[in-house]
Amino acid sequence: MGNEAFAHAALEAGVNVVAGYPGTPSSELVETVAKLHAAGAAQDVHVEWSTNEKAALEMLAGASYCGARVLFTCKQVGLNVASDALMSLNYVGTGGGCVLFVADDPGPISSQTEQDTRRFGSFAKVPVLDPATPEQGFAMMKAAFDLSERYHTPVIVRPTTRINHASTFFEVAEETHGRPLPEGGFQKDPKWVIFPKRAYEGHGEINRRLAQIAWDYAHDPAFAQFNEVFEGGGEGETIGVVQNGVEGAGASAPAVGIVAGGVSAAYAREALSLIEAQASRAGIPVPRYRFMAVGTPYPFPAETAAAFAEELTDVIVFEELDSVLEEEMLKLTGERHLPLRVHGKLTGEANDRGENTTENIAGRLGRFFDRTSASADSPREGGGTSTCSSNGSLGGTAHWAVPFAAQPAREEVPPPSRCSSETEHGASPDAGCGQAGSLAALVASIIGANNLGYDGPLPVRPPVLCAGCPHRGSFYAVKQALRGREAVLCGDIGCYTLGNAQPLDAVDTCLCMGAGITMAQGFAVAEPGKKQVAFVGDSTFFASAMTGIANAVYNGHDVTFAILDNATTAMTGSQPHPGTGVTLMGERRRPIVIEEVLHGLGVQHIGFANPHSLESSVAAARAAIDFEGPSAIIFRAPCIQLKKPDAPVTIDADTCTGCKKCITSIGCPGIGFDEGLRGPKSGTRGQAFVDTGLCDGCGLCTQVCPFDAIQGAVGFGGAAPVEPTIYAPNPDPFQTGPISGLTFSGEELECGGDAVEEGGAR
Ligand code: SF4
Ligand code: SF4
Repeated sequence: MGNEAFAHAALEAGVNVVAGYPGTPSSELVETVAKLHAAGAAQDVHVEWSTNEKAALEMLAGASYCGARVLFTCKQVGLNVASDALMSLNYVGTGGGCVLFVADDPGPISSQTEQDTRRFGSFAKVPVLDPATPEQGFAMMKAAFDLSERYHTPVIVRPTTRINHASTFFEVAEETHGRPLPEGGFQKDPKWVIFPKRAYEGHGEINRRLAQIAWDYAHDPAFAQFNEVFEGGGEGETIGVVQNGVEGAGASAPAVGIVAGGVSAAYAREALSLIEAQASRAGIPVPRYRFMAVGTPYPFPAETAAAFAEELTDVIVFEELDSVLEEEMLKLTGERHLPLRVHGKLTGEANDRGENTTENIAGRLGRFFDRTSASADSPREGGGTSTCSSNGSLGGTAHWAVPFAAQPAREEVPPPSRCSSETEHGASPDAGCGQAGSLAALVASIIGANNLGYDGPLPVRPPVLCAGCPHRGSFYAVKQALRGREAVLCGDIGCYTLGNAQPLDAVDTCLCMGAGITMAQGFAVAEPGKKQVAFVGDSTFFASAMTGIANAVYNGHDVTFAILDNATTAMTGSQPHPGTGVTLMGERRRPIVIEEVLHGLGVQHIGFANPHSLESSVAAARAAIDFEGPSAIIFRAPCIQLKKPDAPVTIDADTCTGCKKCITSIGCPGIGFDEGLRGPKSGTRGQAFVDTGLCDGCGLCTQVCPFDAIQGAVGFGGAAPVEPTIYAPNPDPFQTGPISGLTFSGEELECGGDAVEEGGAR
């Protein structure tokens, strides 16, 4: 997996300290380091999941000041949390190599935004490397440490999901060692203290080093290798690699160019190979073109781009997320007065969001080649009429046969790119025009013939809580406890965001990590007549909720915090956190106890419930909700991924009435409804059935069915039924030292340790 390759690369580069916060698609890097360390293959390295991204980066900054090579990991939104530290760290500068591995998520597949870390790099003035393949990422990771130490700057390595999760083969070192720390350790110096005068000086240093790094990206082979330029296309001419400039290019100079960054460079190369092979068979000429892969988007390697752009009239840019490279090409065009038309997201000729694919880029390249060929064949100021459809394929007057300043017509831009069949597969309106020699038509026919795409309706698969998930009972209990009261239910980031789905319908807002806790307080101020409940998970509690809870206590906001404690960071692959007491260095520490933290923060009412035990959960939720002032209820039951499933329940066909309450109230995927089933009570209405492959035996449905038709649950999700209880302070809450693992009703859980042993992500 790409993330494993990044981990090996960092270890081979002698990284000393690795820290981050879990987040798809980045998580496996830290887990790989932890596994290798546990196996003795990665020596002299410290690895940890930190409480949140800001804590991780600040801890790493300290280690870097001592000369250690440090690696920070997070997903793209995690960098927002760490940004306070990052902005200042760049001004102060680093000691040992400091690399930030920030995984972007075009799509987005598992994130709340499609933000582009290349933009963050330029905002923070931190250099960025953007791999096109896991192999290149492996090389970049090592280069990033060198770059960081050459200029004392943090460096961002920014892969995207398909690089993180791609599989390939690597030769890796059997054993690695962290680089020995410099003698003398941390050297005290005024430069480490960011007074305004130091910040002013630091800003100048940043500006100077960015100019130098842009030069390195263009000319130093260690970095220029990531910005490959080559030429291809043309009849009978082979692709020639044109590294570090365009000298030595083929006989006929191209007029068109392709710029691609990150994984889009790999897609574009594949698309070009596809087009050239098929065009050769069909006897259709492919125009000569020049290609530039940009692996170092910030600072932009302008010298490489200027050499690439020589003599070109049209360039199309492929990149995911924002139009970063396209804007750099436009800037270059303006600065150097180049007679170059730049096409891409801003002109509607590339996906404006979501992921690219080889097929999508092939389709767009076919149209680009057709149009530029038509443009070259037409008089520049020409009129004329198109014989094709509106997109101006061969035979028509292309839209850039108008004066240079005019913008080309916008193409249809698909919504999320991996599901829009028409443009995704290159089957544009012009593709079907049947023009002889049209590359767009050729691409459309290839993709259609090879069934590379799927044009039928996609099955609807709404995200849903797992069968047996304890959060289902928590949401249902709170809704039951609130019956008759107007309320706003604030959710958060994690599995429990799925409480938004019908029929639970228990999450009205979800913004970002920890926001539910504080947003609920805003609702309480603005709408005091309503009750506010904020749901938060155990890992998020430690990452982002505690300051918000302190705010509620300090300002006396009447909100209830529902803490869904399933003993793991479930959504990102069952990582441990401070509440589990398990660390990635193989130690077990006393877990930080959520109720003790709540008590310490001044929350006066702290209740408990087992969410699989419905009646007691509703009672406990009601008690917390009725309390005047900040209150909390901790729903505590393990994630089903951490425990053995119980035997599935059964439905008594003689008792089931077919009322569907088990389905319409809790929405467990373990229960379905068969309209063909018959019974004495259900008549012809049909009956519920249990999917024994999914049912976890949690027993929640047995407590919902009004006719006792569901049977067989043993206990409540593997936990004993509990009476609603209220927290009584531990007389010795701050005892230290190792303890045994966290238990739920006597069963010891791995609490995320399984992620260390088995590699984690589901
Ligand atoms: S199992 Fe119970 S709740 Fe479900 S349809 Fe049958 S009677 Fe209704
Ligand atoms: S016992 Fe009922 S609610 Fe629990 S997993 Fe099985 S079907 Fe779903």
